[in-house]
Amino acid sequence: MIRYFVSDLHLDPAQPDIERRCFDFLAGPVREADALYLLGDLFESWVGDDDPQAIARRLAQALRLLATNGTAVFLMRGNRDFLLGEDFARECGAVLLPDPVVTDINGRCVLLTHGDALCIDDRPYQRLRALLRDAEVQRSLLSLGIERRQAIAGEARRGSRQHTGSTDPGLMDVNDGAVATVFRDSGAEFMVHGHTHRPALHEYTIDGRSCVRAVLGDWHRHGMVLRWDARGYELVPPA
Ligand code: MN
Repeated sequence: MIRYFVSDLHLDPAQPDIERRCFDFLAGPVREADALYLLGDLFESWVGDDDPQAIARRLAQALRLLATNGTAVFLMRGNRDFLLGEDFARECGAVLLPDPVVTDINGRCVLLTHGDALCIDDRPYQRLRALLRDAEVQRSLLSLGIERRQAIAGEARRGSRQHTGSTDPGLMDVNDGAVATVFRDSGAEFMVHGHTHRPALHEYTIDGRSCVRAVLGDWHRHGMVLRWDARGYELVPPA
C-alpha cells in the first residue's frame, strides 16, 4: 500500500504556482498511490460548498479522477476551509474525515489531525477556533448570502495576517504538553498533521512508548508531503 499525506496547499487564484505544483503532483506520483489524505487548508479560503472558485471545481475534478482510478481520497477540514462539507467531498469522490481521527496504517495506530488544535499557547486563536467550530455559528454563517460570506472571509484573512504578524512564532507552534496528551488519550504511536508549516519528523517517548509526530509542509515554496509504503515513511517534496 502506498499512501500520501498532504496539507496546507492554500490554493488561491492569486497564486498560480501552487495550483501548478498541486496538479503536477495529482497527475504524477499520487496516481500510483492506494490512498491520498488531504489534512486541511486545501484552500486559502472557503465560504461553503457553494463557493464559486473555479480552482475548487478543477481540484474536485482531479481528485475525482484519482478516486475513479482506484486511489482512495480522504479530506479533512483545516482552519481556512473549516466550512468544507459533505457536498464538496462528494464532488471529489472523497471521504470527509473528522478531526482528529485514528486509523490503522501498516499495523500502526496513527492519529490524523489538521494540527491547529495542538497550538494551545495561542489563546486568542483558540478562542476564535472554538467559536468557528460551533455548529450553530457555522449554520448562521452558511445562511448568509455568498457575497456577505466572501466579505467576512476577506476580513478574517486580514485579521489572521495581522495576528500572525504580531504574535511570537513560538506561541503559534504546537504545545508539547498537548501533543503528549493526544498520544496518551488516543493510544496512537504516530501522528500526522500540518498547519504550522514546519515540516519535520519529531520523536517522543510517552509513558515508555516510542511515538513519532510527522509535520507536513505548506506549498507556498515547494511543499513537503509524507509518503508511506510497506518499507516505511518519509517526508518528501511532492514532485
Ligand atoms: Mn492551518
